Amino acid sequence: MAIHETRSGGSRALCAIGGHTKPAIEELVSLPGVESVRPIPVPFKLASRHFQDEPTLVRIGDVVIGGDEVVLMAGPCAVESEEQVMKTAEAVAAAGAKILRGGAFKPRTSPYSFQGLGEEGLKILRAAADRFGLLTVSELMEVAHLEMMSQYVDILQIGARNMQNFSLLKEVGKCGRPILLKRGIAATVDEWLMSAEYVMSGGNRDVIMCERGIRSFQTYTRNTLDLNAVPVVRQLSHLPIIVDPSHAVGYRDKIAPMARASVAAGADGILIEVHYDPETALCDGPQSLAPDEFASLADQLRIIAQAVDRVIMTGPPPAGGAPSSDGPKSS
Ligand code: PEP
Ligand code: MN
Repeated sequence: MAIHETRSGGSRALCAIGGHTKPAIEELVSLPGVESVRPIPVPFKLASRHFQDEPTLVRIGDVVIGGDEVVLMAGPCAVESEEQVMKTAEAVAAAGAKILRGGAFKPRTSPYSFQGLGEEGLKILRAAADRFGLLTVSELMEVAHLEMMSQYVDILQIGARNMQNFSLLKEVGKCGRPILLKRGIAATVDEWLMSAEYVMSGGNRDVIMCERGIRSFQTYTRNTLDLNAVPVVRQLSHLPIIVDPSHAVGYRDKIAPMARASVAAGADGILIEVHYDPETALCDGPQSLAPDEFASLADQLRIIAQAVDRVIMTGPPPAGGAPSSDGPKSS
C-alpha cells in the first residue's frame, strides 16, 4: 500500500492506495489525529478531485499551466533543420507562445516517412527555445531516451499512440519533468485518466492532459475533436487540460475555429503546429499554420480568453521589454 499526501481546504490529507484487503473505516477514524476517513469512489485516485480539489498548477520557470493564463504552445510537427526551427520559434514567440514544440522522434504510420532527427533535433529545439525565451515540449517514444531527452526538454510528451504504453508511463512517473499526456485515438476519458494515474502513482504529479481528437466514423477531418472532454476532465480531475486542434482536424483551415472553441470551452493551453513554410514541411504540412496565421489566431484567442475570465499574454515587443496582456488577470 502506498501513502500519498495532499492538502485539502487547509488541512492535511493522506491517501492510501493499493493493498488487497479493505481497511475498516471505523478503525482508521478512531486513530489519533484523524478527523475523517472516506473512500475515493473512482479508479483514478490521485488524478481525481476527491484526492485534491484545488487545480494542479504545473510551474516551469515563470510559466504556469492550469492557472489564469491559457498557455500557447506552438512549433513544427518535426524538427527538420536549424533554419526551420529558428524562424518558426522567432515567429511563435513574437505572437505570444510560451512553449516551443517540435518532435525529434516521430511516431509515423509508415516506416518510410521522415522519422525525426533524434538528439540532433533536440539540440536545435533547445537552442531555438533559449534564443527566444521559450520552453520546450517534445515527444518521448521510448524509455531508453528518457535521460538523454531530459537534458533538452522541459515537458515530455507522451503521444496518442503511447497513451497506454504502461512501461513508459511508469518510467516517466519517476522522472522530474512535467508530462504532456495525449489522449489515445480510441481512449475513453476514464482510460486516459488511468494513464495519468500511472504517472502520478510513480510520484510525478505534473501531468498535463491533452485532447487531440479521437477516431470516429466521419471522414472530413483527420480525427474528431472531443471538446466535451474539456469540461468533463475539469470536473473529474484537478489536472490541467490543453487542446491540440492540429492533430484533431488535420486541415489548416479548420484549426482556427477549433482553437477558438477550445479556449471558449475552458482549455488551459492550446498546442498548435506552426511551420515557417508549411508547403515544405516533412511532416504534417497540411495541418501546419504559417506564422502570420498563428499570429492572427493568437489575437483572436486573446479576446475569447478575456470573455471566459482567462488571459493570453502577448509576445515581447521587438525591442525587448516585458510582455503585456489585454486580459483581466494579467500579472
Ligand atoms: C505530435 O504531437 O506530433 C503527435 C504525433 O501527436 P499525437 O500523438 O497526438 O498524434
Ligand atoms: Mn504532427
